[in-house]
Amino acid sequence: PSIWRAKVERTFIAIKPDGVQRGLSGEILQRFERRGFKLVGLKLIKVSEELAEKHYAEHRERPFFKGLVEFITSSPVVAAVIEGKGVVATARAMIGPTNPLNAPLGTIRGDYGIDIGRNIIHGSDSPESAEREIALWFTPEELLDWQATIAGWIY
Ligand code: ADP
Ligand code: MG
Repeated sequence: PSIWRAKVERTFIAIKPDGVQRGLSGEILQRFERRGFKLVGLKLIKVSEELAEKHYAEHRERPFFKGLVEFITSSPVVAAVIEGKGVVATARAMIGPTNPLNAPLGTIRGDYGIDIGRNIIHGSDSPESAEREIALWFTPEELLDWQATIAGWIY
């Protein structure tokens, strides 16, 4: 009921096969948690071709589309929904530009990547994309609306 709950938004992030294989999943999730965002959905998933093609539908005509779908379906992905004020834009800022070579140090892609085709993580680019992607990757039952109660039992 407090005011800060009023503007809560959600975004979709996916740690791609390169991020998972390099053991960066925990480190990446930690960045979002430490920033203050809340995990409301989380799973390790072997992405189907159908899901990959729907997820990247906007890129269907691009020359890298086939390779992108092949890569994203090749090995497990960590899919997550995170929640918090301004999370869509802030997660994109924390992720950095598409090409890791252009990504500033301190961003996920800038700290861990060098290849545009292996840029570690996906994040929704707008509130509309976030809504579409969350519905595509998660069932309503997989998204948990929970409240911290630690104030009562951490001393
Ligand atoms: P972002 O993930 O930053 O939103 P885009 O939506 O433009 O970037 O592209 C989606 C994904 O497609 C990128 O994250 C990257 O994995 C891949 N991609 C984009 N451009 C290229 C490219 N020129 N060559 C290879 N892969 C690309
Ligand atoms: Mg994109």
